[in-house]
Amino acid sequence: MAKQEHLELTVEGMTCPSCAKHVEKALRSVDGVQEAEVPGGWESGRATIKVDSTVEAEALSAAVKEAGYSATVKTRKPEGGSISSNGGGSGYDLMVIGGGSGGFAAAIKGAELGYKVAIVEESTIGGTCVNIGCVPSKTLIRSVEAHHMAGHHSFRGIHTTSGQISWPEVMDDKDNLVDEMRQAKYVDVLAGYPEVTYIKGRARLTGKNGVEIDGSSFDSAQDRPFDSAQRKQYAPFRIIIATGAQPWAPPIPGLAEVGYLTSTTALDLKELPKSMLVLGANAVGLELAQIYARAGTYVTVLELLPRIAPFEDEEISAALTGYLEDEGIQIVTGFQTSQVAKQDGRYVLTGMQEGDELTFDAERLLVATGRRPNTANMGLGEAGVRLGKRGEVLVDETLRTDNPFVYAAGDVIGEDMFVYVAAYAGGLAAENALNGAGKIYDANYIARITFTDPQIASAGLTEAQAQEQGYDVKVSTLPMEYVPRALVARDTRGLIKLVVDGETDRLLGAHVLAPEGSEIIQTAVMAIRFGLTVGQMRETIFPYLTNVEGLKLAVIGLEKDVAMLSCCAG
Ligand SMILES: Cc1cc2nc3c(=O)[nH]c(=O)nc-3n(C[C@H](O)[C@H](O)[C@H](O)COP(=O)(O)OP(=O)(O)OC[C@H]3O[C@@H](n4cnc5c(N)ncnc54)[C@H](O)[C@@H]3O)c2cc1C
Repeated sequence: MAKQEHLELTVEGMTCPSCAKHVEKALRSVDGVQEAEVPGGWESGRATIKVDSTVEAEALSAAVKEAGYSATVKTRKPEGGSISSNGGGSGYDLMVIGGGSGGFAAAIKGAELGYKVAIVEESTIGGTCVNIGCVPSKTLIRSVEAHHMAGHHSFRGIHTTSGQISWPEVMDDKDNLVDEMRQAKYVDVLAGYPEVTYIKGRARLTGKNGVEIDGSSFDSAQDRPFDSAQRKQYAPFRIIIATGAQPWAPPIPGLAEVGYLTSTTALDLKELPKSMLVLGANAVGLELAQIYARAGTYVTVLELLPRIAPFEDEEISAALTGYLEDEGIQIVTGFQTSQVAKQDGRYVLTGMQEGDELTFDAERLLVATGRRPNTANMGLGEAGVRLGKRGEVLVDETLRTDNPFVYAAGDVIGEDMFVYVAAYAGGLAAENALNGAGKIYDANYIARITFTDPQIASAGLTEAQAQEQGYDVKVSTLPMEYVPRALVARDTRGLIKLVVDGETDRLLGAHVLAPEGSEIIQTAVMAIRFGLTVGQMRETIFPYLTNVEGLKLAVIGLEKDVAMLSCCAG
């Protein structure tokens, strides 16, 4: 017999006592519904039902809609209140595996929905972003930028000279900020959710809804370490996998033997190297390359594809190449590494570029060739959770895996590896897993940022993608020297490129390369998401002496020569 669950629904549209009867009847008509009631009468706007666990939320909503009302699932619990009451106090309604941003968002949502939640983390609370990703990288970028600006010749209007950067101090400041933000955004936030138990340990699935946590764990709910010889078993009602990803290196001969820096270790180097090779010119590689170059390291970036930032618009890649080279970074593209070795303490990379054999050497080697999901040795296959070619958890549009008890969110699903996407996905997965909310995961409208200086900020389709998809493409490219903000800031590096559907005049894509370009892009994301036309953007007043005004100028550039405009994009 299927397991029984209790659901509470929010019902809209009931205006009289007979409405309550209609809603109850509609709910009882769904296969698998055992009992349905509108307690407290039609004014309560709610219904409670007892169902087989196989009943989908969509079927309930459809039946109520058919009767002329609307209903959404508010809470969904196994019979007996929660697994915790069945499991003698050690069970959970939701077990989230992974204590990063995606896992935290899932756990908090579960608690807000009224469930008993556990979050399991094998390493440092907070996961990648705060400890070894966004936070340390962005604060280092800011530190070296300040140093660079103070001494840089190419910024007209700034006349200071640079001293030596104090690398140990920069690293200490970074570590302090990471500690503070981890405490404020993870440890202290967790303390505000007593319904969430933090379990330190490594989790693996055992069967359909079983989770085994490594015995050396510490269960904060019980406030005592587990017996180290023990492995503890749980049977939560639902599981969310939010185990993130880790740096991945290609199988280049010699690479594994010589060892190398990853983004994690490169963000924690105690001594500033004199020279560094950076393999891979995507966001992580480029950001770290510029950090080290600005701190004083001689950096060579080696990229297999024909251009850096290879998934961005071509004009953006070309312009950024120029700016990085101006700062003294050597950029080598179309380079296929064939061998890595260590000679006299230096890393030596040999490879081919357009038929020529080239060799590069440096004191340090950073491999930044992508990240792969953390799914190994977690019993996923045996538990019926299917994985893709790169080890990513395969999910449907509601983030459910092939095992109906298990959902996944964040980097572990292998796409859009950004922290804001992980957090969005975590919350959505929790709602779907616990309440059968059936919400659709939609990460189509997001900004993608590379925090170099100038920053790459893009949204929607590139010109090439729009053409491939058969649009009648119109393009406007505006050099930043036409943006008054850039002129007064005496930094006119970069461009704004808009991709427009010539038939509907809708904005399809926006590609920005500009100092703090990330601050511009969300306006374009909103325009793309809500189908704004360039006409509507042109009619909207933008503030003068802001970089975002550049978006409007680029729109005007579709029809007019922006050099002939007076003040304020008029
Ligand atoms: C250098 C760098 C810079 C970045 N900069 C940015 C940025 O500026 N902006 C941005 O949006 N994104 C950035 N990112 C990406 C961002 O950090 C990730 O997208 C985000 O942190 C993913 O969150 P998550 O919750 O999916 O995974 P994670 O934060 O990685 O959390 C997963 C957690 O699961 C734990 N875990 C794994 N397996 C198990 C197991 N079996 N049992 C228990 N625990 C387990 C891990 O220890 C980890 O703590 C950056 C990434 C890097 C590497």
